Amino acid sequence: MPTPVLIAAELRELLPENPLPSADVTWISAEEPTPSGPYEAVVPLLSRRIGLQELALLPKLRLVANCAVGVDNVDLAACAARGVGVTNTPDVLTDATADLTMALLLAVTRRMKEGEALLREGAWTGWDPRQLLGTGLRGLTLGLVGAGRIGQAVGRRARAFGMGLRYTARQPRAAFEADTGAVRVSLDDLLAGSDVVSLHVPSTGETRGLIGRAALARMKPGAFLINTARGDVVDEQALIDALESGHLGGVGLDVFAREPQVPPPLVRHPRAVVLPHLGSATVQTRRAMAGLAVKNVAALLEGKRVLTPVGGETAGDGR
Ligand code: NAP
Repeated sequence: MPTPVLIAAELRELLPENPLPSADVTWISAEEPTPSGPYEAVVPLLSRRIGLQELALLPKLRLVANCAVGVDNVDLAACAARGVGVTNTPDVLTDATADLTMALLLAVTRRMKEGEALLREGAWTGWDPRQLLGTGLRGLTLGLVGAGRIGQAVGRRARAFGMGLRYTARQPRAAFEADTGAVRVSLDDLLAGSDVVSLHVPSTGETRGLIGRAALARMKPGAFLINTARGDVVDEQALIDALESGHLGGVGLDVFAREPQVPPPLVRHPRAVVLPHLGSATVQTRRAMAGLAVKNVAALLEGKRVLTPVGGETAGDGR
């Protein structure tokens, strides 16, 4: 008997034909609620909550193979209590997300949104040495809040632009420090001493609201904030206020607290570059994420160890 498995329908075109030959796959789109049934594994997108309610609908569930590295949509404690394994998709999205972070950093510091608006409005009158002057990166300090896989990949890229690095993490990252000269500091020191702050912590009970009003006030006047981690790590209203008061020089955001809602003041603000959660959005990366999530299910069905269990990672400490 083929094993019943649920897979997000949006992944179908990123996967080979018949990706799990030994399974009976039901494809569910993001708008559909989680169905009840004897499914033994589910491959959800991060927009699908897997909590107590969903676990109750899935009494035979053995694995949540999340198609994301972040697992904030999954109730890890409830899964553990039920003996349901959880896997994510680390590493395969690190480069794409780090590249997008640099794209936001450059877009914000070089005022690209304002430049594009000038052309779109037909208001450009020609080259002017005083026009839309941005901020050069060489010699600036980048503060990485979280220096795991993506934070470190951003740090390595930023070194190539001549930036100095500070970072926060509960555990020191010796190889990263040796390679890049990054210095581990407290969050307060990082905020007060960085020209650009970039967020790379997961959304957890400890990190939600980490960058609130007080944290933003500690940032240097004119500093820039980049968030490609999770929207709820930042207090969005406090961020809007810090931007509108001119305290922050600009923000680059790929993630929001209540996606797909993006606060209109952020969409409108000339110094806010906002993107619709595109961090891992390359053809290669999305295929690799879908492939890895399904490989975890295949391993489960074959009675093997899953490839990337949450909590079982060794990455994040170096190369
Ligand atoms: P990772 O390797 O696990 O790195 C997470 C970092 O956060 C580590 O440095 C960790 O170090 C630190 N950290 C964890 N909990 C913390 C806490 N409570 N306080 C302070 N630091 C903490 O994860 P990753 O692969 O780099 O991914 C990071 C996050 O990026 C994901 O969780 C996801 O939310 C987000 N992401 C977004 C996109 C996108 O499309 N925009 C794409 C991929 C990932 P310590 O444990 O030493 O503190």
